[in-house]
Amino acid sequence: MKKLPIIYFIIPCYNEEECLPETIKRLRAKMHTLVRNNISKKSKLVLIDDGSLDNTWGIIKNSKNDIIGIKLSKNFGHQNALLAGMMYSKNYCDAIISLDADLQDDINILDKFIEKFSKEHYEIVYGVRKERKSDSFLKRNTAQFFYKIMNLLGANTIYNHADYRLVSKRVLEELSNFKEVNLFLRGIIPSIGFKTAIIEYAREERLAGKSKYSMRKMFNFAIDGITSFSIKPIRLVFALGALMLVVSSFILIYAVIIKLIGKAVSGWTFTICSIWIIGGIQMISLGIIGEYIGKSYSEVKSRPRYIIEDIKKS
Ligand code: UDP
Ligand code: MG
Repeated sequence: MKKLPIIYFIIPCYNEEECLPETIKRLRAKMHTLVRNNISKKSKLVLIDDGSLDNTWGIIKNSKNDIIGIKLSKNFGHQNALLAGMMYSKNYCDAIISLDADLQDDINILDKFIEKFSKEHYEIVYGVRKERKSDSFLKRNTAQFFYKIMNLLGANTIYNHADYRLVSKRVLEELSNFKEVNLFLRGIIPSIGFKTAIIEYAREERLAGKSKYSMRKMFNFAIDGITSFSIKPIRLVFALGALMLVVSSFILIYAVIIKLIGKAVSGWTFTICSIWIIGGIQMISLGIIGEYIGKSYSEVKSRPRYIIEDIKKS
């Protein structure tokens, strides 16, 4: 008989006490049906407590032994929590599937993920949202705007894919060689390569509680995505400088002509406008370059991306 793959389901949790009991119940039930014919009995749920302030760790710790719990020492953010789960799991499983604790990702397509992996030998399978009706108008539009801007500026992401994906052990091994502190998995994983597939699904409502991604977190995430994957913004600054040089030479000629024909009088409005506009552009440009310097700074320090405080073994 063919050996069934061991799948670890990785779920980062930040203040998810309202969702967790139901999430665990549903995932456990799903895992048990999968165990019957698609995956190995050794498959597990891996819940990562990303420094929650509520009873999330209490729930994880007291759960049955089909669940592994990893408690991080503080809130390191969704991406780092996911990484912690993946790096722990890669030594024990054949593939991981990452999903959110609020079960917004449709767990009925898990069979398809596993089929793509075990029968068709795909190394990475991306879950892609068909539509985002369940997200609020603001969330949907800002998220799609960010995707577009990110891809325009050179971050290679899969459109409408969040972190619902299957990743094989082999890809996890490669991922462990990516040492960047500013972690943007949605860009890193497509850049690893290998045979990949896409599965579409409809995104559900959150089970309970509110989104843990504030506007600020989302904005930082998008900036991180762009600046981790491309230096296009810096090139843009350079192009802007070149353009200004061309424009300024025309203005110079204009100013000399005006002077020569003796009409160089007021010109105050023009001067003031130029100062403000050029000043503004310079500030923005400095800011963009500063962003990269800041990023290099945190990369050079290469501090740990997460710290594990406690592990509940299964
Ligand atoms: N999350 C996390 N750390 C954080 C923020 C979020 O581990 O700092 C987890 C959260 O518990 C959830 C997943 O990341 O499992 C996605 O978060 P959420 O559902 O709030 O985001 P949204 O679906 O609204 O984008
Ligand atoms: Mg969610």
